[in-house]
Amino acid sequence: MYFLALLFLLITTEISAKVVLIDPGHGGEEVGAIGHIGNKNKYYEKDLALRLAKKIKDELAKSTSAYLTRSIDRLVSLQDRAQMADDVRADLFLSIHFNSSVNEKSHGFEMYYLDNNSNVATQKVERSENLNLKGEELIVNQILVDLVVQQTVSHSKQLARDVHEKLKPVLKKNKLDDRGIKPGLFYVLALSKRPGLLIEVGFMSNPGELQKVKEEKFLNEMAKAISEGVMAFVKNMK
Ligand SMILES: [Zn+2]
Repeated sequence: MYFLALLFLLITTEISAKVVLIDPGHGGEEVGAIGHIGNKNKYYEKDLALRLAKKIKDELAKSTSAYLTRSIDRLVSLQDRAQMADDVRADLFLSIHFNSSVNEKSHGFEMYYLDNNSNVATQKVERSENLNLKGEELIVNQILVDLVVQQTVSHSKQLARDVHEKLKPVLKKNKLDDRGIKPGLFYVLALSKRPGLLIEVGFMSNPGELQKVKEEKFLNEMAKAISEGVMAFVKNMK
């Protein structure tokens, strides 16, 4: 009986022993997007991203190993975030962000995987998320990106599909427009060299949407669905 229990433990450990590194975007003096509700209430992307990332970590930790690139409000370079993927031997990398636009009406959820072919609309998101990287390293990264895309794109796409599938009902329930899965050139994904996603939960520049996405209950639902999607992927990962 003891042997069987041990065997079971070994098998379940084998299946679920994937390491997920969750990356709350921005931090410290780099606040990311800024949103307002009314005149007084100001929200920073770095804070919302950290709240959601912690919840995802707690959900994932029930089934597998999960780490955060930062657990407090501090500045971390994209290189250091990526280095942590090596340090914790991450299998998957999830970068958590909230969107922003000069058009206050822009709204909706979207999710990116690393790929080279992106359109003009995506370039705006890329610019705001690719900050905090030094100029000379960008050149090296173009070569790195091609290599990493080759190695990760099929897994990243499948991960995106699995997470998206679990998120659909949450987005629908909370009346958040679903802008779907898109390719994007995000250096933090390239540098991490892992299959991964960059999630833009909703537009902080849209006060109505900010009101929804800052809610504890909504963030709990998102965290649970994202975690379920990741675990669905992990179970089928060869
Ligand atoms: Zn961001």
